[in-house]
Amino acid sequence: MIPVIALVGRPNVGKSTLFNQLTRSRDALVADFAGLTRDRKYGEARLGSRPYVVIDTGGISGDEEGIDTQMAGQSLQAIEEADAVMFLVDAREGLNAADEALARHLRQRNKSFYLVVNKIDGVDAEVATSDFYSLGVENMFAIAASHGRGVTSMIEEVLAQFPEPEAPAEEEDPYASIRVAVVGRPNVGKSTLVNRLLGEERVVVYDQPGTTRDSIYIDYERDDQLYTLIDTAGVRRRKNVKMVVEKFSIVKTLKAIDDAHVVLLVMDAHEGLVEQDMHLLGHCIEAGRGLVLVVNKWDGIESHQREWMKTELQRRLQFAEYADTHFISALHGTGVGHLYKSINAAHRSATKKLSTNALTRILEGAVFDHPPPLVNGRRIKLRYAHAGGQNPPLIVIHGNQTGKVPASYQRYLEKLYRRKLDLTGTPVRIEFRTGE
Ligand code: GDP
Ligand code: GDP
Repeated sequence: MIPVIALVGRPNVGKSTLFNQLTRSRDALVADFAGLTRDRKYGEARLGSRPYVVIDTGGISGDEEGIDTQMAGQSLQAIEEADAVMFLVDAREGLNAADEALARHLRQRNKSFYLVVNKIDGVDAEVATSDFYSLGVENMFAIAASHGRGVTSMIEEVLAQFPEPEAPAEEEDPYASIRVAVVGRPNVGKSTLVNRLLGEERVVVYDQPGTTRDSIYIDYERDDQLYTLIDTAGVRRRKNVKMVVEKFSIVKTLKAIDDAHVVLLVMDAHEGLVEQDMHLLGHCIEAGRGLVLVVNKWDGIESHQREWMKTELQRRLQFAEYADTHFISALHGTGVGHLYKSINAAHRSATKKLSTNALTRILEGAVFDHPPPLVNGRRIKLRYAHAGGQNPPLIVIHGNQTGKVPASYQRYLEKLYRRKLDLTGTPVRIEFRTGE
């Protein structure tokens, strides 16, 4: 699973600067879930090929009265959700009372945390860090976030304590269950949909430790196919868990997406597409998961508005055109059964075996119909293709000057592969390799 790192500290110590450093190459998900999370910001970052999530908790100033309330309201969930807490302090200002108060509170939470002494550029790092020894934190880093100094080695060390994600099985067992995550903003109808989906099925609920960041996994069978529903709304657990701050958790949602074969992204027809929907959608695409778009509460839309709304939604969802869109009413059950057709198709596509033979033949046909352009007077040559992975399908194409293949030509190949191989509901990735 993806490690989650929370940045805490009083204002101006450099949390946002560090957050931006860590997430800078990835703008897809720097999601400002306004209103929901107040000042928290979630970003996805990568160390090499390893993804992790960073939460910037915004400023907690230790000065004010009632730091407990502050912690509880604002940062508690971030800290709870985190695997590692990075506690930032300012090397230039030295230790102050607010830092001490925060350290005490972190200790009470029983969370292991790292002390990060920031802004060591232009100061004597030894001297600057020694000022903070009295906090008694064993793990200490000295960095300059704005210069990126010490940042990578710090993250390497922090991530090293978490097990590397297992390499995905080369070939999925075709009889294994299809993992379906139900995700979406609060109140779009996830719980209602989960209850609908499970309504008549034989259900096995795993009793899992109840933390806010875990979804529940529910196994069931339908038409001889096994499914595992990844329930981010926590429907089947509500009663026996004290609800923590918010029932919606972005980290939980991200983890559910990453763990799924197919994501049901639920949206609310009344509200149309809001920014948070787009962020979640961006993450689904980025994560390469199978995707089914679910526009819920369709019952409440006047019939004379439906056509117009469909067109409008589909126009705005164009960049996820590979995904089927369903207009449903989870409340009344309308359209819910049809979701399975798309779920199954997305799963089948995402895990389909693609032979070198078929992939190469399609490539040859594509090149014959539309040869790639000339670059510096030489034609780009695309020779053969083979599968590089599943879920999402990766097609590796070998040839000459492949670094010069224009984006438009890649899209042409992707579309053609999608059509010829009947791949729906999943992204298709193409990678080029140069070599004789
Ligand atoms: P936050 O309130 O904790 O999110 O702090 P910010 O990231 O907004 O940073 C506060 C100020 O410190 C800004 O003016 C940053 O440019 C500055 N800053 C952040 N990191 C460094 C650093 O490594 N060195 C120096 N000299 N300034 C920094
Ligand atoms: P969640 O926060 O995403 O789990 O959303 P809920 O399932 O708790 O639903 C939020 C509200 O929307 C509840 O009042 C539901 O009754 C209502 N709701 C859910 N699905 C539908 C639907 O299809 N039509 C209508 N009209 N209301 C719905």
